[in-house]
Amino acid sequence: MGERIEIENLSKEYPGGVRALAGVSLDVAPGRFLVLLGPSGSGKTTLLRCLAGIERIGAGRIAIGGVTVASRREHVPPERRDLSMVFQDYALWPHLTAAENVAFALRRRRLPRAERRRRAAQMLAGVGLAALAGRYPNEMSGGEQQRVALARALVAGTGLILCDEPLSNLDADLRERLRVQIATLVREAAATTVYITHDQGEAFALADEVGVLERGSLVQVGTPEEIYAAPASPFVARFTGLAGELGVRVLGPVRGGVARVLATPDDPVAGARARARPFTARLAPRGGRASAGGTVLVRPTGVRLCSGEDGEHHLVGTVSDVAFRGRGYEHAVDVPGQGRLTGVFDDSRAARGQRVGLRLEQAGCLLFPAGR
Ligand code: ADP
Ligand code: MG
Repeated sequence: MGERIEIENLSKEYPGGVRALAGVSLDVAPGRFLVLLGPSGSGKTTLLRCLAGIERIGAGRIAIGGVTVASRREHVPPERRDLSMVFQDYALWPHLTAAENVAFALRRRRLPRAERRRRAAQMLAGVGLAALAGRYPNEMSGGEQQRVALARALVAGTGLILCDEPLSNLDADLRERLRVQIATLVREAAATTVYITHDQGEAFALADEVGVLERGSLVQVGTPEEIYAAPASPFVARFTGLAGELGVRVLGPVRGGVARVLATPDDPVAGARARARPFTARLAPRGGRASAGGTVLVRPTGVRLCSGEDGEHHLVGTVSDVAFRGRGYEHAVDVPGQGRLTGVFDDSRAARGQRVGLRLEQAGCLLFPAGR
């Protein structure tokens, strides 16, 4: 069964005064799949290494399964924390075969050798590698090596699985297939999982819950849906996918969490060509009171093309790029005096250089009032 994780006020400083974690508190229920999302240098690996016991903590407390494993006085070593890890660089033993690498994770169990081998073979088959059991790491592709590492993490049946960007070194299509495999196998094992990534799409696809890290602080924890609909700050919104940002004037009082706004350009002459018309935006949570001005952060789902300038548009711009995405087209549209919106979806292709109307949908338009 999965272990509960409790992290209280965890801080960690490296020699030289680098503050990698600044008072992180987090509670993960047994069997949950938590993804920690943040840019490079935000403290993700440090947090995972503190959980694993590879790194000593500076201040605070970590408990796994109700047992304190790290505090100011205590430090339980990694091998006594009932957890397994999957790393970005696979970290397999080069002198052991795939089967031996997996069986190695069972070395501490009091099991007959034949039983260890049987379980390793079964787990390798589970990740689709039965045929490669006798291969050495240097005889396998990156994706195959990572599946061996996954089998090794799962075979021991630990209550906690930690993954540090396990898909980052793989090609896109392989990444997607292995992501599905991780999601299903880890949930079958019912282990609690902490998985770190800098990739927003990966985080949303995998997580029961996402925690967003910014410069060593946990700035939001929630389901992917909550974070997409109600990012706690412009940083979280930007890091979880935006089409772009619009400077706006707020036209009236906020009613029911919604305000009428007008996109106002930095450059009024250019802006006149954008032919702005009022639209509605949702006041971001913790947004405070709406002021006279602010910024609307636009999710890709919050903007679409409307045919020409047919009176339905809120803004007018010029298509600077179009990308075929299989299910339709994503456009980059330059709005005079505002900048560029990207990922603007439409079923049909608008040509580069074409003048188009943009319709802004309330659900994907988040108003952050000025001065915060
Ligand atoms: P992430 O995994 O999110 O990229 P890290 O946890 O690796 O972030 O790093 C967080 C911060 O701590 C960064 O500023 C990084 O440079 C610093 N850092 C990481 N490891 C060490 C170390 N061993 N010594 C000194 N500074 C470190
Ligand atoms: Mg890292």
